[in-house]
Amino acid sequence: MLTVSMLSTYLYCKRKLYLQKVLKLEEPEREDAVLGTIRHETYDLINKHEQALVTSIQRKVPREILHELYKLHYSEHLRNAIRAHKERLLAVGINPGEVFKQFWTLVLEESITRADNIYNFIETHLVFGEKLWESLMPKIVSEFGVLSEELDLVGKIDQVEHWKDGFVPIEIKTGAAPQDGIWPGHRIQLIAYALLLEEHYKKPVKEGFVVYVNSRQRRHVAINPFMKLELKAMIAEIKQLLASRELPEYTPHKRKCESCGLRQQCHDKAFMEQHIWMLQTAQ
Ligand code: SF4
Repeated sequence: MLTVSMLSTYLYCKRKLYLQKVLKLEEPEREDAVLGTIRHETYDLINKHEQALVTSIQRKVPREILHELYKLHYSEHLRNAIRAHKERLLAVGINPGEVFKQFWTLVLEESITRADNIYNFIETHLVFGEKLWESLMPKIVSEFGVLSEELDLVGKIDQVEHWKDGFVPIEIKTGAAPQDGIWPGHRIQLIAYALLLEEHYKKPVKEGFVVYVNSRQRRHVAINPFMKLELKAMIAEIKQLLASRELPEYTPHKRKCESCGLRQQCHDKAFMEQHIWMLQTAQ
């Protein structure tokens, strides 16, 4: 079964996917991967504890108190996520204290936004505790695992917004956003998640969003019926690639190689020949 992240690797560089999945070469741990995990886990903790936090609000309180309450909880979630990956951070030469400073601005903004939403909702509806939680929309579920036998595809969605009338997948990305729209790899991931969700809940998913957290951009993608054909065609191409005995060509985009963790092995012809020979003789 393919994973959704294989789709974006395929779009990035076919050869890279082949090196990873067929020739079993692994990229060394990268700074951005560790930071990405911490970011994901922070949002995961925030969403998992949101219900307990909201239901703990039992009366009307000033806006500033809600801000402080949210700040306190969210800073703890960020600290816990950093603590859980302290060893990995140190291994790639990052000081965990610096990570807190780097992420805190974003997490703080999120805490203020959510606290403001709650404050405004209470002002309008005057509900508290369980009733407040039940009335709030959307509910957000993070790291939602989905699988499709039909597509032969599995993935984990960063966030799913549960609205009364349907579901909206959200992909959270660090790194620069394109000038318009979203990067091709992010687009195909979002389409895949929308279709996986659709099959899971047996309900059409009409849209999704990619959130580029560093630039605070939330980019929309409308899902249409032709996308399923596009996705199925890509899955078939990937399966063909993985079944082939031919090493794909280098990507023509040199800048991709510059930031690729496999560039050393990939461009070392003698290493590649020996590695392929060893794999073949081991079969
Ligand atoms: S070094 Fe370049 S060609 Fe090789 S796998 Fe990475 S991106 Fe592809």
